[in-house]
Parts: sequence; structure tokens; C-alpha cells
Amino acid sequence: MSDSIAFPADGLIISAATTGSWPTKAQNPNVPVTPEEIAACAVECGQAGAAIVHIHVRDDEQRVTCDPVRYGRVRDRVEAAGSDVIINMSTGGGAGTTTDEDRMAPVALRPEVASFDCGSVNFGERVFINSPQFLDELARRMEANGVLPEIECFEPGHVWNALRLIDDGKLKPPYWFQFVLGVRGGSPPTVKQLQHMIEMLPAGAHWSVCGIGRAQLPLGLAAMAMGGHVRTGLEDNIWYRKGELATNPQLVARLVRLAGELGRPVATPAQARTLLGLAQRPQA
Ligand code: ZN
Repeated sequence: MSDSIAFPADGLIISAATTGSWPTKAQNPNVPVTPEEIAACAVECGQAGAAIVHIHVRDDEQRVTCDPVRYGRVRDRVEAAGSDVIINMSTGGGAGTTTDEDRMAPVALRPEVASFDCGSVNFGERVFINSPQFLDELARRMEANGVLPEIECFEPGHVWNALRLIDDGKLKPPYWFQFVLGVRGGSPPTVKQLQHMIEMLPAGAHWSVCGIGRAQLPLGLAAMAMGGHVRTGLEDNIWYRKGELATNPQLVARLVRLAGELGRPVATPAQARTLLGLAQRPQA
């Protein structure tokens, strides 16, 4: 960062994490869970201003699954609707409920982006294991399939893991980091932690932040002011404000309004592709 603070002119990439592994319709009826609902929500979030949608899929009982058929159905429906929103498929699975092999299945679909959880962490009452062997293999398959890893870091040690993978040539530029702050077991959701992790990044890295729960909006605003990008959505927080449940497009629309007030242009999917080094889509 420069020695004076100013709102950056770079296009703001908004990611919408609409579903996640855990939120259910009992907690918020607006959580999309069928492939049809997830796809429709992705299209709506794109219309609201999201350049990227981060996708998880669920089975018929709303339980997390890594079923590539369901992932494929989501993408087919988004594309059939004429949306050019960038699809980021999760490889997170459900901590302790899915095998490493299951988790890597969506990579074979060659999504433009997929999540790369760059280390193990306690996750609420669960343990989210991302072993060195898993990360090596996931990095290898992503590169072989032309998938951009979204390097998710839940604490500073995960950034350090990424630096080692970069040194070893297993992760290659451009680098797209997602700081996930506020998971119980990971880093607390503070600007101080965010700044510390930003300072660890390799030159030229792009970064985004998602704050969990009530940290979602304040950390997102901090990221927008600091020149980063931002993720929102019901995966991370089911509330619009205290006592009022959110919808995914509503959360995206709020960030678009706030970016407008900051004078920060919101990146279209095409502009985000340019920034992240992704191939452009042929015009429909
Ligand atoms: Zn996710």
C-alpha cells in the first residue's frame, strides 16, 4: 500500500458464497440447496453485481456432497440462463464427512476457479483437515485442468503454507487469495489480522476477504477501503441485520451500493477475468 490512504480505483471483485456446507433452510429459508435453486441464485447474484459465485452442492437432504453431476447441473443452468458470472466450485466438502478424493472431484469439470483450503484448522466443533499430501495433489490436478486456485487462508500459517507451495513451484501466478476470518479455530476477524496476512503476500497477489457471521460487513468494508476484494453470502452469514434474515442477492446489492458511495467501480465478470488471468468468454 502507498503511504497515504485513498479509495483504490481498481474494480472491486464481489464473490457471492451462496450455500456453503452447513446452513440449512431451517436456519434461513433463502439458502439455495437444489442445483436449480443454486443456479438461479447464482444468476441473480451476477445480476446484482457479483463477478464470482462460490458454489457448494447439497444432496436431497440438504447435506453437503461433492457430487460432480450436481456441480455440472449448476454450471449448465447458469450458462443456459446466459449469465457470464465466474463459477468457483468448492473443494472444501464437509469437514470429516467427505474423503479427499471426493473433494477433488469437481476439479475434473474444469471450473474457472476452485477453492484451495491452504491448511488444516479447527472449524467450530469440527476439524477441517487439509494435509500436505492433499494440497500437493489438489494443486497438481488444478494445474492439469487449467483451474485457478482460490487460496483460502483461515489464519496466517495458511499464507505461509501457500508461500512454501509457491516456492516449490506447486502454485503458480496469478495468485488469488481469499482470507476467511472469524472461523472458530482460525484467525479472529480483525483489521489487524487482515493487515498482517496482507503483508505476508507475494508481490502481485490479489486478495479478498470474507468475515464470518457479524464480521462479514465490517471486514468487507475494511477490505474495500484497503484495496482488496470482498466475499459475501449466506455461506458466511445468514443475517442482513440483527433479527432480519438475508438473501444472497440482497447482500451483494448492499456491497454494490457501498462501493458506489466509496467511488469504487464494481468489476464485471469480464473485468475480473482480466484481473485474474482467466480466459475471456466468447460473446454470447
Ligand atoms: Zn465454501
